[in-house]
Amino acid sequence: MSLKKSWVTSANDPATDFPLNNLPCGVFSLDDEEPRCGVAIGDMILDMAGLEADGVLTLADDPVFDVPFWNEVMERGPATWASLRARLTALLSADAPDQAACLPHLYRQADATLHLPFLVSEYTDFYASRNHAFNVGSMFRDSENALPPNWLHIPIGYNGRASSVVVSGAEVRRPLGQLKPPGAEVPYFGPSRRFDFELELGVIVGQPSQGMVSVAEADAMIFGYVLLNDWSARDIQAWEYQPLGPFQAKATATTISPWIVTAAALAPFRTAPPPREVPLLPYLREPGPMLYDIALEVGLTPIGGPETVISRTNVRELYYSPAQQLCHHTTSGCPMNVGDLLGSGTISGATKDSRGSLLELSWGGKEPITLATGETRSFLEDGDTLTLRGHAQGAGYRIGFGACAGRILPAAAVPDWAR
Ligand code: MN
Repeated sequence: MSLKKSWVTSANDPATDFPLNNLPCGVFSLDDEEPRCGVAIGDMILDMAGLEADGVLTLADDPVFDVPFWNEVMERGPATWASLRARLTALLSADAPDQAACLPHLYRQADATLHLPFLVSEYTDFYASRNHAFNVGSMFRDSENALPPNWLHIPIGYNGRASSVVVSGAEVRRPLGQLKPPGAEVPYFGPSRRFDFELELGVIVGQPSQGMVSVAEADAMIFGYVLLNDWSARDIQAWEYQPLGPFQAKATATTISPWIVTAAALAPFRTAPPPREVPLLPYLREPGPMLYDIALEVGLTPIGGPETVISRTNVRELYYSPAQQLCHHTTSGCPMNVGDLLGSGTISGATKDSRGSLLELSWGGKEPITLATGETRSFLEDGDTLTLRGHAQGAGYRIGFGACAGRILPAAAVPDWAR
């Protein structure tokens, strides 16, 4: 697959996240106008609601793009997704006859505010990277029993909170919580001292299900992908997580990147997950490669900068693909809804510089990392900005996600009645 040339010249830059091959779906606003659907092309946004109002692009009898979410488009299903992509490709390709019809609806990304691109129905977080599961197990338990006995057989997950999913750029306040440091006799209530990020791929379910679906059916239900930061308070987590798993440690916020990169755009970058260490039960076996080759990196910028890239890894590191996770999610008969968000779990490689959380990078705080400024970090400090980036690399182009960033605000004061 090579670069598809566009008459929007910035989309032909080999370094742009948003060439014509990508066409990711977002929600944007300008000044005090209402947020609406848009598609990124180079450094511009194509206003889908404007095109629809002019009759240049019609998806349904009623308007679907004049709202601040893509759920209505997702509901219409894979045939509609494909025809929309084909129509946009035709409108924006270098030899398009009707450029003049699009021109009034192109806006500079630099002038726009980006919003959450879809209504998040429910949020589930998985635990699908073997290196991450091993590293966390080694620290929270011991290296003998690091990988839970079920891990190689089942995609482990928990039901998270949709209410605290926010878009890139939203500030994140350090959580308060119940803490019991190692060696302390009794717990106390106060700000988390071990606030962390988790580098994940977010999966957006675009079709509903009733009853169990196969891995292949699950794959076809996925509309697209975002980068996802599952902010995690490790000290709250360590005290609360047994026996029912994470709760308040993960509920503060989950940040996603603003553009939904469609499964269609990523199709040329499909790859098989790593070899199975034990055979999977038949229902979890993949009929074809359903993981993606997506390079990932994490930048940490302290107050005053500059940024230090603290990790580089790849979505290929996941042991279970999103389709396997989604299939497993339905085994109980759990219905899935349009707009459900699945986190892949923290993605960590085998080497120290490819770990997807500070918990692992600093090995539980025992080996702080050094930033370009000379400062060290075991966990995030107030004022730090954490930025996730990712892209699939084609020949002369890339399918990028845009940044997934958030800055840490100091914790709220503990109220008198909570002391
Ligand atoms: Mn997570």
